[in-house]
Amino acid sequence: MPDVPTPFSAPINAERLQSLMEAVSTFGGGPDGSMTRLTLSREDGMARDWLGRWFAENGFEQAVDAIGNQFGKMTLAGANAPVVMVGSHIDSQPNGGRFDGALGVVAACEAVVSVTERLKAEDRLSACNFQIVNWTNEEGARFQPSLLGSSVFTGAADLEWALDRTDGDGISVRQSLEEIGYAGKDKVEIPDALIELHIEGDTTLSRAGERFGIFTRFWGATKYRLAFLGRQAHTGATPMADRKDALLAAAYLMADLKQISTEHGLDLHTSVGRLEVYPNSPNVVPAEAVLFIELRSGSPEILAEAERKIKIKIDEAALKAGVTSEVRSIDRRKAGPFAPGLIALAENAAARLGQTARRLDTIGGHDAVAVSDVCPAVVLAVRSRDGVIHHPTEYTSPEDQALGTQILADMLYKIACEGLQAAEVSEAAE
Ligand SMILES: [Zn+2]
Repeated sequence: MPDVPTPFSAPINAERLQSLMEAVSTFGGGPDGSMTRLTLSREDGMARDWLGRWFAENGFEQAVDAIGNQFGKMTLAGANAPVVMVGSHIDSQPNGGRFDGALGVVAACEAVVSVTERLKAEDRLSACNFQIVNWTNEEGARFQPSLLGSSVFTGAADLEWALDRTDGDGISVRQSLEEIGYAGKDKVEIPDALIELHIEGDTTLSRAGERFGIFTRFWGATKYRLAFLGRQAHTGATPMADRKDALLAAAYLMADLKQISTEHGLDLHTSVGRLEVYPNSPNVVPAEAVLFIELRSGSPEILAEAERKIKIKIDEAALKAGVTSEVRSIDRRKAGPFAPGLIALAENAAARLGQTARRLDTIGGHDAVAVSDVCPAVVLAVRSRDGVIHHPTEYTSPEDQALGTQILADMLYKIACEGLQAAEVSEAAE
């Protein structure tokens, strides 16, 4: 960290950040570094209560919505000023780590407080208000699906449907929210931008000898459940030319899928993870083969192109094997870029601190992926030791935590001083 504040820097207090990190880790933390703070559990409730007290003590106004998303608003500008949301999640996996999610929430707290202090010290008005967020059930460990709170917030998931999700013991989200006192009634508006700091959870940064990254793209997936339909026959008596072998068509297609992936380098993952064969007998020509196909990419264009190619290959495989095909279901999760304006803002903030900002893809989910549907969003990443995530040995050093938090604070400070046009967010939203 620079000793002299540079322009557009709101120096954070690294000790205060560490004490926040230690405080939140007492709820569900074990001596070995483990963390078990399943969403809406007793531990999660206690951590939320702690965060709510911290909000009250530090000038934030708490709001809780109907799916239990917990917000803390710092009002620095007029009621109609833009709102920049910043945060992550404090739920964890069972026997997970301390930093996944929780760092993003406490870093948001520290960054907003630092920016507020700096603005006050300079007697400067802010162009925006800040809203800290702790999303409900990011992990999807206790209730499925993951990203439940952020998906309800954006309207992508139905509230009543989400409240009816049950855990392994048959306890619903609704009951759990009531039990810990977080069945809220507040209506929180979609913000004008969302910034999330998260641990990388991978080894790209450490292998490059770098400390900071920006997730610039999120991967999407196209999932097909496809059936080839042939004719059941004896594998001995039936002449080869008369066979309609559904499994043979599946084999042709699986080889083609691999070929399609090689045509797109590292940007496309393809798989058939499951195959159901009927009647699945050693001496019966298969009448039906159902393939569970996945195409994954960070590029919407590549996903669409791969889907176009696979449709052609399905027809070719069916023709070659003398069978027909039937698409039983298609499930699409879109790929896309995060907001270019926020990415540039993060790159500039990192550069001012003498840090590179490596561009990363997120293949798994983040709440910011859900929110990027409705407003400009970005996820910043600090390196994880050995790339470990969802394990007690998950670790990000205090220095790296402070670096990510400082970059976050500097971004927020620049937006506070210059408005969201500092991040060219209107361009990013197009
Ligand atoms: Zn996370």
